[in-house]
Amino acid sequence: MRKKIVAGNWKMNTTLPEGVALATEIDTKLRNRHEVSNKTVVIIGVPFTHIWEVGRSLAPKFSSVAAQNCAAEASGAYTGEVSAAMIASLGCNYVILGHSERRAYYGETDAILVKKVTRALENKLEVIFCVGEVLAEREANNHFEVVKSQLENGLFNLSKEEIAHIIIAYEPVWAIGTGKTATSAQAQEMHAFIRSTVANKYGKDVADNISILYGGSCNTQNAKELFLNPDVDGGLIGGASLKADDFVTLVDIRENV
Ligand code: PEP
Repeated sequence: MRKKIVAGNWKMNTTLPEGVALATEIDTKLRNRHEVSNKTVVIIGVPFTHIWEVGRSLAPKFSSVAAQNCAAEASGAYTGEVSAAMIASLGCNYVILGHSERRAYYGETDAILVKKVTRALENKLEVIFCVGEVLAEREANNHFEVVKSQLENGLFNLSKEEIAHIIIAYEPVWAIGTGKTATSAQAQEMHAFIRSTVANKYGKDVADNISILYGGSCNTQNAKELFLNPDVDGGLIGGASLKADDFVTLVDIRENV
């Protein structure tokens, strides 16, 4: 059965000491509450500079660290880039790829993402792959086409074995950091569409086992309604992942619905 997941995305926030303090606080709260049940996979996406130290602050039984990006190339003369192999060598098991901020501000195209996903999988990283439409695309009723094309052009070159290492995050761009969440019905509708698109390409078994997360102003007030949907397997959480209490509450909500 597919996993329930709550993943945080700290983005470019926290200095290293602040990040270690936040991770330690999250870890302590998770340990205290997870003694009884441990059904939800908890992932924390941190800046590259924090992976090693934050990773050491987290008990692997309760949560894991993720990178927020990796290079498209394996190694070589690419000044400032961080390779998937480097990330894996820090004991990190996950990487977030295709976030809308990277697509919008750093020109990440589907073709670049294909290379990044390949590098990540070569290094045994599990990929949280983000898709989602901008407001104009939704208003023009193109959101299904946009997401389908992001899936087809960014992921569907993968084999059946490879796609099993992908977690999909549906993040409507108009909901990210805006306080405007997709309604529960909008989220379910798109998640079901994503699952059926995966099923058409890879078969029902693969689609039933792939986790699809919702991201976009998900918080302690709206998470329950979102997570109750049969095709919403969890959340990718930006702002609320920077507050230990809120983040752990979101894990609790995921665990209990
Ligand atoms: C994100 O950036 O992945 C995200 C979901 O952000 P927020 O929760 O702040 O909207």
